[in-house]
Amino acid sequence: MTAQLYIDGSWTDAAQGRTLETLNPATGEVITEYAAGSPADVDRAVAAARKAFDEGPWGPDSSPRERATILFRAAEIMRRDKEKLAEMETRDNGKLYSDALEDISESAFMFEYYAGWTTKVAGSIPPVGPEAMSLIIKEPVGVAVLITPWNYPVLMASQKIAPALAAGCTAILKPASPTPLTSLELARILEEAGLPAGVFNVLNGTGSSIGDALVTHPGVDKISFTGSDEVGKRITKLAAESMKRVTMELGGKSPNLVFSDATLDEAYEGSAVGIFYNQGEVCSAGSRVLVERSIYDEALEAMSRYAAGLKLGDGMDPETTMGPLVTAEHRDRVQKYIEIGKESGARLVFEGDMPTTPDLLGGYFVPPTIFADVDNQMTIAQEEIFGPVMAVIPFADVDEAISIANDSIFGLAASVWTNDITKALKVSKALRAGIVWINDTQPAPSEAMWGGYKQSGVGRELGPWGLESFLETKHIYVNLEG
Ligand code: NAP
Repeated sequence: MTAQLYIDGSWTDAAQGRTLETLNPATGEVITEYAAGSPADVDRAVAAARKAFDEGPWGPDSSPRERATILFRAAEIMRRDKEKLAEMETRDNGKLYSDALEDISESAFMFEYYAGWTTKVAGSIPPVGPEAMSLIIKEPVGVAVLITPWNYPVLMASQKIAPALAAGCTAILKPASPTPLTSLELARILEEAGLPAGVFNVLNGTGSSIGDALVTHPGVDKISFTGSDEVGKRITKLAAESMKRVTMELGGKSPNLVFSDATLDEAYEGSAVGIFYNQGEVCSAGSRVLVERSIYDEALEAMSRYAAGLKLGDGMDPETTMGPLVTAEHRDRVQKYIEIGKESGARLVFEGDMPTTPDLLGGYFVPPTIFADVDNQMTIAQEEIFGPVMAVIPFADVDEAISIANDSIFGLAASVWTNDITKALKVSKALRAGIVWINDTQPAPSEAMWGGYKQSGVGRELGPWGLESFLETKHIYVNLEG
């Protein structure tokens, strides 16, 4: 069975009949074929989304209560189907089943969270004097193209779909080519929840074949993109031609600062989790671990011990604690960085074992890898590797730690491990990053905020900020004279 596209409320083959295969990264085996769209499908999807926005049932005149009802129902269906969704996510992406379950649960919460917001989007009436009244109102931006990466397929899609639909936008989701399946499930869920035809469309297909058509389409008002900085920059340039609104959630090279006055066992374990969780395929992974010199050796030992305890395997196996990377191509890219690290003179202090069971020999595994004595100017400290590769850098004091941490083109996230609250807050303020965790790593509650400084992005997602990015603000001026 070929997984089809979802356009205008119908399941359909691609206009040119093109298909691609999606593989299980743990084994390299084909899971299924899926329809891969072309620019003709982009036209179909945009026309459907445009009509549903301009003529209803969605758009600025739709009922906030009705939007809420559908989003709440979608959350309920997601929770009902969580095991099926999580298994599909694990087989398509490689991540641990337990992590996939958490992603689904947080995604369902996002639908509930933004369902609640639909009835609370309000404007304001600033006082402009006795002769006039200024009404500031909020309206949906229009047709939104949502482009997502493969590392958190359901979560990243939900992070965009829920606020877009809550705001009254209609949407076309373009999932990443290696992980097309759960996005189609989201369409099925929204359909069952009662979402009218055309409001939400899923267009699988490669970025190289449909990306430009989506991004430059005159019927599209907004691009919400999560992915690499390289593709993000290309889209931003193209979108600027017609001044489309853009939100960019891009890559990172996030620093993780460990001070000697931290609760050290927690700091070492947290630092390891920060880079090895989800195989290091995390935009905010703490890939640069900065450690105060006085605890440098013991930190290397403790983090290596943690890495040695990780068991590579199929994400569906409950014994597995680290899955495969998403594709053979991505595995090769990460391995190339490990070679670059070795050649650049960084000290390889830990390299884990590959799985040996015969059914996993075709899988795309990269074992946890730790480089010590990394100079922050080295390639492995400056470029996003997006795999389980930790670069450890020593520092002497707070000022040096901040200076190394900020010496990056990226500014997505950072962790600070210390029990000195003054130091924690001082360092957090000085770090040029969109999110700073104190004595923790990676939590991203949907009610709060997500987004990057510098080349890690433009705009913000999650919380009210995520909703705002799908809204326009209009000023209606009423003359009260006479
Ligand atoms: P990617 O290669 O940039 O792809 C992201 C999405 O863009 C995919 O759907 C991709 O489709 C599509 N795309 C590729 N070329 C395009 C084009 N010319 N026009 C329009 N769309 C195009 O990134 P990835 O490898 O999937 O994901 C990893 C990256 O995402 C990392 O850099 C990571 O840091 C970043 N990320 C950031 C966040 C955040 O919140 N800041 C979260 C997660 C991931 P194809 O798959 O078909 O190429």
